[in-house]
Amino acid sequence: MSIYALVDCNNFYASCERVFQPYLNNKPIVVLSNNDGCIVARSNEAKALGIPMGAPMHEYRKICINNNVKIFSSNYQLYGDMSQRVMDSLKHFCPNIEIYSIDEAFLQLDSFEKNFDLIKYALHIRQKLNIWLGIPVSIGIAPTKTLAKIANHVAKKSTSTGIFDLRDINQRENILTALPINEIWGIGKRLSLKLNELGINTAKQLRDANPKYIRKHFGVVVERIVLELNGISCLGLEMVKPKKNITSSRSFGKPITELQPLSEAISHYATRACIKLRNQSSKAQGIYVFITTNKHKPNEPQYRNSMIQGFVEPTADTNLIIRIAKNCLDQLYRSGYKYKKAGVILTDIISNRHKQNDLFSENDLQDKREKLMQVVDNINAQMGTNTIFNAAQGITRHWRMREEMKSNRYTTCWDELLQVVV
Ligand SMILES: [Mg+2]
Repeated sequence: MSIYALVDCNNFYASCERVFQPYLNNKPIVVLSNNDGCIVARSNEAKALGIPMGAPMHEYRKICINNNVKIFSSNYQLYGDMSQRVMDSLKHFCPNIEIYSIDEAFLQLDSFEKNFDLIKYALHIRQKLNIWLGIPVSIGIAPTKTLAKIANHVAKKSTSTGIFDLRDINQRENILTALPINEIWGIGKRLSLKLNELGINTAKQLRDANPKYIRKHFGVVVERIVLELNGISCLGLEMVKPKKNITSSRSFGKPITELQPLSEAISHYATRACIKLRNQSSKAQGIYVFITTNKHKPNEPQYRNSMIQGFVEPTADTNLIIRIAKNCLDQLYRSGYKYKKAGVILTDIISNRHKQNDLFSENDLQDKREKLMQVVDNINAQMGTNTIFNAAQGITRHWRMREEMKSNRYTTCWDELLQVVV
């Protein structure tokens, strides 16, 4: 029999902030989206104040101030690095792991059942993550991934241990009877309304539906959910596939009108995309560049445009890609507009083992370029992001997004380490 555990970090962004500012334990915290626009994460205490997910910050500023809610801009470097540490730690306990999102992973525990009491093992994992990283997690155990998701939900909402085991048939009966179908993994709002029309309202009713009937009316994906709810595992672990396209784009903190800062921003996004590209050992074969004004300000003149440029040969060279991106921008740019957002997408990505050189290019030069990129990546990995960067990215970067309440990048930046004053 298959056994899956879903490990999910509790209020992940808020928990990351608390690791380095422990006085915030038990205090309400919210984390904001890019440019400090909306609330994208809340601690339990903030949820209890009735602050909803995705709420515009300006509508809740008063409530936050009145209740001493600590407000943070998103610190994706910190969250990304802490996530990496959580996942690396989990691999220590189980080699078969699927990283499902920044704060969730499935573990496949089939072979562990013989030698371990799985509830004790889950408690052990939870305790170690707390000691090593200070990140609280919930763990749901079940024979299928769909049931493990549900078990996790129960673990988070209604246990004091943070662990819940849905392998027990009687427990499962009670939980599925009480669970509305829209809370099942993979059942969206529209689908649940359609199922409701057929009288299927609870997870138990969906579990007991005829799989063939469900397949005929809703397709094979929903049929699989029915089988998974019956404890028949249809969804295995999915290993990370390298991305086919890599996007880097942001809204600006304030509108840009001139070409120069726009060019800096495009160069900066191209650089970030190239770093991701090299991290997954890939090369791109083309780039898509776009710029746009603010469509939410219809009174201002509107302009948006984009273009695609193929590369002569696959590459992951930041210098080369910046040059091509800037060239695209020169052709797209029109003066007289207030630009709100720009970005690049690296396209047609292939493995860097794949070599198909341009007939007329000098191989030697290409090798040298690759070595140069390795050196830059190594320095930035050891000394901190942006220790070395292209001047094209600009130095002041006034166009950067607003992040006025960002905490330090404690784990990735030497200048921002945690300081202990004795
Ligand atoms: Mg979570």
